[in-house]
Amino acid sequence: MFNLVIFGPPGSGKGTQSVKIAEKYNLAHISTGDIFRSEIKNKTELGLKVQGIIEKGELVPDELLVELLENAMKKYKNIEGYIFDGFPRTIQQARDLDLLLKKSIDCVSLVLALEVDEEEIIQRLLKRAQEQGRKDDTEAVIRNRLEVYNKQTRPLIDYYNEQGKFLSVEGVGSIDEIFNSICSVIDKHIA
Ligand code: AMP
Repeated sequence: MFNLVIFGPPGSGKGTQSVKIAEKYNLAHISTGDIFRSEIKNKTELGLKVQGIIEKGELVPDELLVELLENAMKKYKNIEGYIFDGFPRTIQQARDLDLLLKKSIDCVSLVLALEVDEEEIIQRLLKRAQEQGRKDDTEAVIRNRLEVYNKQTRPLIDYYNEQGKFLSVEGVGSIDEIFNSICSVIDKHIA
């Protein structure tokens, strides 16, 4: 199995690229953000629990993620692996993911980061707010999400670097240019 974590701050293009990568490499695309948005839309118990947290740009507590992820992964059959988009976001989640994959004698194969500077990120997210009306894309919430990313998620770079699994590509350019850079890294990795 090829298990890819797509990594980067909010607005770095993880979602857009993940869909293309999943299709090309026959991977199951697991986006925890999409799962939460669907739970909120359907007003489920979990949705109601996490709505306020997400609208403030904070992270949902780690303990709510493991079961959610395990259930999402179980849904897929006949795949070559997974692409995790928006997960893990904390060291605890990375450890949980390692344990989860270990159950099926598997592991994270590669962590690929999209590099985009902070001002570009803010402009992109403000534009997305206008286009998609996401409540967690107002300027104050965006700044908080970036702070949360820097404090809680960025330390994962060291976690995966120590395991020799961390690589990055330039996340600025056209969608196809970025996709091509990603594919050449993946192709080299699986060759
Ligand atoms: P995203 O679409 O990945 O940017 O996720 C939107 C929001 O959902 C985040 O700002 C968090 O509030 C929440 N979320 C998504 N994935 C996670 C995660 N792995 N851990 C904690 N919170 C998450």
